Amino acid sequence: MLAGSLDLEEEWYITGAKFDPVKSVINVYVGIREDAVIVCPRCGGSTKRYGYEPTERSWRHADCLFYPCYVHCRCPRVKCDKCGVQQVTAPFERQNSRHTLLFEGYAMMIMEDVPRRKASRLLRCNEKTLASILLLYICPSFLAASQRPGTSRCLSCTMWRQWSDGRSQEPRARR
Ligand SMILES: [Zn+2]
Repeated sequence: MLAGSLDLEEEWYITGAKFDPVKSVINVYVGIREDAVIVCPRCGGSTKRYGYEPTERSWRHADCLFYPCYVHCRCPRVKCDKCGVQQVTAPFERQNSRHTLLFEGYAMMIMEDVPRRKASRLLRCNEKTLASILLLYICPSFLAASQRPGTSRCLSCTMWRQWSDGRSQEPRARR
């Protein structure tokens, strides 16, 4: 069930899951088999394994049994003859996101029907987080622009950035 919600396929797998009674959260740990053959995420060419990213990262996932759920993983790196060392993206993440794809999709579904403030309470995450998810789905060019601050000339990006900062009236998510 958990593997399915994370879109994990062989060679990715769940190494463990644990309930944290102090924080009242569920932690799920994901790994990839040591002998997994991984293609270069940039060019699709064959690669050699090149260890793992230095620190474990965490992503907010959809609630499990009404408890917030977090996924933890150290993604592998590969060395491509053409592209050099590349960080592999996990199946459940969009690059540079701190939320799983399922969580983002669920958040978008909630925000179609309820105001962001209420969605924030339902999803137990802050409004700024929801605003950033909305930005990425409604205006994909924001993603590229957000990686190079100050370079965006997209008008809708500017509008959404203002909304994100609470300087304009909150529009509804596009259906
Ligand atoms: Zn490559």
